[in-house]
Amino acid sequence: MTKGPLLALLLLFVTPVAVVVAVLGILIVIVTGAASASSSTPSGAALADIPANLLPVYQAAAERCAMPWAVVAAVGKIESDHGRSQAQGVHSGANFAGASGPMQFLAATWRAYGVDGDGDEVADVYNPVDAIHGAANYLCANGAGEGDPARLRSAIWNYNHAEWYVNKVLAQAAEYEEAAASTIAGDYTVPLAASTPGLSQTAMAKPHHDYPAWDFATPTGTPILAAAAGMVAATTSSGACGNGVVIDGTDGHRYTYCHGVSTGVARGESVAVGQQIMLSGSSGRSTGPHLHFQIVVGGTKVCPQTLLLAWSEGIGTNPASAPTSGCTS
Ligand SMILES: [Zn+2]
Repeated sequence: MTKGPLLALLLLFVTPVAVVVAVLGILIVIVTGAASASSSTPSGAALADIPANLLPVYQAAAERCAMPWAVVAAVGKIESDHGRSQAQGVHSGANFAGASGPMQFLAATWRAYGVDGDGDEVADVYNPVDAIHGAANYLCANGAGEGDPARLRSAIWNYNHAEWYVNKVLAQAAEYEEAAASTIAGDYTVPLAASTPGLSQTAMAKPHHDYPAWDFATPTGTPILAAAAGMVAATTSSGACGNGVVIDGTDGHRYTYCHGVSTGVARGESVAVGQQIMLSGSSGRSTGPHLHFQIVVGGTKVCPQTLLLAWSEGIGTNPASAPTSGCTS
């Protein structure tokens, strides 16, 4: 990725009050789940990437307001690669935008939100422990700990006023968290974590508006899981499906997931049942954030509703036996 255009773009978003901004990373887009708990388990990727001495600091800092620790860590990753960056302003001085330290604070914001995290009675913007606690303090002050996905997004946006930045932080955070548990029934699972808000039997039984398929309204950034193992036959980034994933199941059936904020798998990739493949959004033909899920058996769309109800109860019903009508309204 090129750094120049990003920096140029970034300058457009910089406001005097924003804490900003090093843009050292790469644009990966996506988002973490609404239900991210501050206590979620670090993924293998997190353990491999986050310095061992800083992981507990991110976790402790997030406890200030029970916000997701992975979001604080993701900010640290994007701002300075956890302090490994040698860019101007990270270890001394300030960068072009006036940002300093591993968490890239503007001087005024640091004065307001800086914290002595390591107990040496100095709040030092270049000290990683102080800077991380200061960043969490600032995110918390903007509502990151309220358990509301929209407030979390808004808190990250306050850190750097750009939607792409919010998506990038949440994508990184999702990578840092162990995927939420799903309810795997034999070879199948409901394509959302069991803890997903609103995922009730009523929601699973809801008819689709036209052809056999299933829609589930859920906030942008909800992890979408593979309902069955298989191989990614295609990903889409436009058209009616928007950002979508088509998986040819090892059971011979075709599974399609639509309207993501972006996809997390590539064509030809093998996926396991319950693996996170996408984060929900409202791309394509969509009137609001939701998952569109459809299953095709031998060229015919079948009704996912009875399958979802079975899978959620631990019964691994094969879609081959699903009805092909009776699930539209
Ligand atoms: Zn639909």
